Amino acid sequence: MKTLNDFDFKDKKALIRVDFNVPLNEKFEVTDATRIVSAKPTIIKILEDGGSCILMSHLGRPKGFQDEFSLKHIADKVSEVLGVEVEFVADCIGEKAEAAAASLEPGKVLLLENLRFYSEETAGDVAFAEKLSKLGDIYVNDAFGTAHRAHASTTIVAQFFEGKKCFGNLLAQEIESIQKVMETGEKPVLAILGGAKVSSKITIIENILDKVDHLIIGGGMAFTFVKAQGGKIGDSICEDDKMPLALEILKQAKAKNVQIHIPVDTIAADAFSNDANKQTVDITAIPDGWEGVDAGPKSIAAFDKVVNACKTILWNGPLGVFEMESFANGTIELGNSIAEATKNGAFSLVGGGDSVAAVKQFGFENKVSYVSTGGGAMLESLEGKTLPGIAAILE
Ligand code: AMP
Repeated sequence: MKTLNDFDFKDKKALIRVDFNVPLNEKFEVTDATRIVSAKPTIIKILEDGGSCILMSHLGRPKGFQDEFSLKHIADKVSEVLGVEVEFVADCIGEKAEAAAASLEPGKVLLLENLRFYSEETAGDVAFAEKLSKLGDIYVNDAFGTAHRAHASTTIVAQFFEGKKCFGNLLAQEIESIQKVMETGEKPVLAILGGAKVSSKITIIENILDKVDHLIIGGGMAFTFVKAQGGKIGDSICEDDKMPLALEILKQAKAKNVQIHIPVDTIAADAFSNDANKQTVDITAIPDGWEGVDAGPKSIAAFDKVVNACKTILWNGPLGVFEMESFANGTIELGNSIAEATKNGAFSLVGGGDSVAAVKQFGFENKVSYVSTGGGAMLESLEGKTLPGIAAILE
């Protein structure tokens, strides 16, 4: 696996695919610069080597050129975060971009215009990728968020950099974190899957059963498993058509010696609303008119034990409807348990969608080992798929 350390960037122009798809407010100000901050170590390392950086990214989903999606809006923020002057060029291929790249001096940063102003980007067009490739000497992919897409700048362009391509620090960290959970992690290995639906996580469950010793199934997903085993779940969310599959998963887990942990109690609400009435009930005896919306105290205690007995922990999906304050407790307590296990030496990875939002919202970001930057890319990795953006560097 080639990383930045395999190259000397002195007097070289690095063409870096970053993920600067940041949120902007109505004044076109960046409201969350996390993605820019995440790319900083890669950029600074190359500049310190004596190289220059040409940054390419997409922003939003424009249809052709649309001023509101121009990366010119973020140039000042990029400059502020990096602490380095950033030049912006209003195209990503062609004469203007080539001239700006050619005159870029060592230690300098150039930000290209939004790649998706060209439909060739998402189409993975080879001729477009070749035009991009003219801008730099070494291709660096540091955009995990788009690594599952075979787009021109994330995948196709790599073929024009035979022996001159590598992962940036961020992408390398993402790959290492996933490998730790899926391959090299210290045992016992635990995966915690929560969230709303079994159907969106089936492939992950099937893939992960071969990798883990323990699997916690929480959140809305759990009710399909509870009902399939004969429990009474009241008005809780459930995918009836997935009940046979849930039983099959339980059977497979047994055969593979994976211990499955399902909540034993739940906080039931009489409406899907923050100020609904609530009561703690056995998860197999939820009254009609009530729905399970959060993990109950016995489940939280049981999960805490499992989490603290494990050395490698993956967390994907909340244990309850955490967006509503009244039903966030289970998710927060799980975060506390994982933080404690991490403090005691476990490796913990949080990835894929809503658990990342929960971790940030409740302040666990610095108390877990790694928080993934890619939603879809993370889910596909957990499904066992090889991401095209990663494969293109390895080829
Ligand atoms: P996912 O994107 O699959 O990880 O699902 C995340 C969503 O699951 C969040 O919006 C949660 O509110 C929701 N969720 C978690 N637990 C429950 C539950 N018991 N009932 C309904 N929705 C839930």
